[in-house]
Amino acid sequence: MSNKKKISKKDIAKLLGQWSQQFAVFVPSRESGVAEMAKWDGKDTSFLDWYRNTVIPPKASFLPPMEEMFSFQKDKEGYHIQLPPSNEHKQLIFGIRPCDAKALAILDMTFEEAYEDPYYLSKRKSTVLVGLGCTKPCESCFCTSLGISPTESADVDLMLTDIGDHFLIEEVTDKGKELIAKSSGLKEASKDDEARAKEAKETSHNKVTRKINAEGIEDKLLVCFDDEDYWEKTAAKCISCGICTLLCPTCYCFDISDELIKQQGTRFRSWDSCAFPLYTKMPMENPRLEKWRRVRQKVCHKYEFYPMTFDVIACTGCGRCIRLCPVNWDIAQVLENVPVKI
Ligand code: SF4
Ligand code: SF4
Repeated sequence: MSNKKKISKKDIAKLLGQWSQQFAVFVPSRESGVAEMAKWDGKDTSFLDWYRNTVIPPKASFLPPMEEMFSFQKDKEGYHIQLPPSNEHKQLIFGIRPCDAKALAILDMTFEEAYEDPYYLSKRKSTVLVGLGCTKPCESCFCTSLGISPTESADVDLMLTDIGDHFLIEEVTDKGKELIAKSSGLKEASKDDEARAKEAKETSHNKVTRKINAEGIEDKLLVCFDDEDYWEKTAAKCISCGICTLLCPTCYCFDISDELIKQQGTRFRSWDSCAFPLYTKMPMENPRLEKWRRVRQKVCHKYEFYPMTFDVIACTGCGRCIRLCPVNWDIAQVLENVPVKI
């Protein structure tokens, strides 16, 4: 007897229904016209057929594109600040891919270890992540080159694997274990189910055919940092639209702005991008006026500076920046072309 559970695919709606009693449940959705994690409507599970990955990464559930930080009022005595209502409502994200769960673990290093960001952390701590292994990786995915599996993750609470008409369920954390203990309608997985899951995982792994050699990349980038010709050529076709950074699951830059009407106002933060010429213009000047410097920053921040600080590459190989770039700028190709052999 296996200690893993399984659920029939036709019973997923019932399981999500149970979880909806305790959590705001988010699932992959195309309702808004673009694939993203959105509040479950209580019935639709058609995403099980079309879902490969979302366009908008799950970071949006923790660091929204625009977020109120506080409101304020001015009177004779000065400014009075009011924080928004607490964000500690419990949420469950169903179907997150292992690469995106890894991206959240990477973001935690910035928002928990380097700084304590209460807005991000309150949402992160009240969220359960239910992972779903990829069965149809995109051509632009290169997660396996960065040591990330398309079907396994230590960064979720539960991990589901497609084994035909069922999903095999693995408990990854205590939070996941507790959730399973409170869920009904699950069956014990058999040894055959486990064997099917193992085979499915191997098949998915082999479907990630895009590869890069990331070994020593941090040192190679360090050596070619001042190679202006290389970076100019590399940046030539980029149009500085920022899509690759805004939709990257590990990018976290934000801008802060105040909306003020008479004596009342609200402070917001919103996604920003180091690809924009106006980036950091407000507090100071953009130190990267030329496009090639901004492109170099994007690549080196992920593959050189972040590893120097946190000992992890801040890219998961999710391939979004490759799929979504309007001019087909390809970070995997750029990394392969770094003109330095160590
Ligand atoms: S999405 Fe493409 S064009 Fe836009 S900033 Fe990124 S690399 Fe440049
Ligand atoms: S840099 Fe590109 S491939 Fe890497 S995590 Fe960001 S969007 Fe995904």
